[in-house]
Amino acid sequence: MELWQQMIRDSVHTVDQLVEKFNLDKKVAEGLDEFFQARINPYYLSLIRYPGDPIWTQCVPDVKELEDMSGYEDPLQEDAMSPVPNITHRYPDRVLFLTTSQCGMYCRFCTRKRKVGNSDKISMRQLESAFKYLEQHTEIRDVIMSGGDPLMLTDTMLEKILQRLRQIPHIEIIRIGTKMPCVLPHRITPKLCEMIKKYHPVYINTHFNHPWEITPESTKACGMLADAGCPVQNQSVLMKGVNDDADVMKELFTKLLKIRVKPYYLYMADETKGANHFRTSLDKGLEIMFKLRGHTSGLAIPHFVIDAPGGGGKIPVLPQYVIHRDEDRIVMRNYKNEVYVYREASSGSNNGNGKAADVNKINIEISNKKNGSTKKPKNFKDFTTIKLPELETSKN
Ligand code: SF4
Repeated sequence: MELWQQMIRDSVHTVDQLVEKFNLDKKVAEGLDEFFQARINPYYLSLIRYPGDPIWTQCVPDVKELEDMSGYEDPLQEDAMSPVPNITHRYPDRVLFLTTSQCGMYCRFCTRKRKVGNSDKISMRQLESAFKYLEQHTEIRDVIMSGGDPLMLTDTMLEKILQRLRQIPHIEIIRIGTKMPCVLPHRITPKLCEMIKKYHPVYINTHFNHPWEITPESTKACGMLADAGCPVQNQSVLMKGVNDDADVMKELFTKLLKIRVKPYYLYMADETKGANHFRTSLDKGLEIMFKLRGHTSGLAIPHFVIDAPGGGGKIPVLPQYVIHRDEDRIVMRNYKNEVYVYREASSGSNNGNGKAADVNKINIEISNKKNGSTKKPKNFKDFTTIKLPELETSKN
């Protein structure tokens, strides 16, 4: 047995262990176990610094889950968009391929609780119909292996799946969605990396949510995957009490770059049953994004998206940078809240009087919605009118 498999065996997962380790009431622990089982492996457990910290919050079952049943079982309608078991086909040229129900840790906020945990939720016997579907649909060029966590499969099983996918000529890209580099980095072994190398291009989508998850072990795991030729990208979820803070996010994203992982997506938390207490307001996410853009390298900034409930797919959301637009010009604010004008191509060019910088950077006043007073803007949420200087151009 490999070290990572032993660590899975040594995880905290029974009701009695939950009661003993985390001081949960036995009845509550039983209810939580029935709702969504726990698995906290010794490595991830060792990252907890104090009760209720951002690591604890992600992995330790909480009575709030049982009080919070207004969300959806399947918020992204993955099952409704599943033409055959284990495949979700939502976008034209790519599919999600669920290969296991097992994970190295069971995250309390998981969107896929209905699929994850008990081994009977995804059966390996059902994979054949998924392969047939992939073979028949020549428009599919990108397969995202997920679950559960595909790296919970043995190297042998994983290789069988990769081999089979590589026999399908129209599949160009394989992505492996795995939280293992974060929650159980010991899974990333030299043997696994040697095997994956044979099936390139293989991209790794991993999932770090907090800077404390970046440790010598996870740094080594991500480096090994990068050395094996896998582009490694990260998806984070914005969560109350975990990472709903611009400084925490900046630290996470800049540290990820240092361990050779590109921040790719930041998701608003889904409306998942039992996980509503993790959700923040959209304004919180926009505020964090505004505090990142311009203040740190663009490489460190992920796309901020809402995965639309009902299966609408990922929809990007941005802070309000464009504050006015007409047929001649676009008025924008930059990361310092300074206002600039970009002329539409149809509005002609600057008249060559050397004042381009003055014309492009302007001062504006805004009228407050509530009391009508005018002032220099600190933010652009409440403006009703903006006064703009005349456009100095010569039409060609
Ligand atoms: S690793 Fe992913 S699929 Fe597994 S419990 Fe965590 S979020 Fe859910």
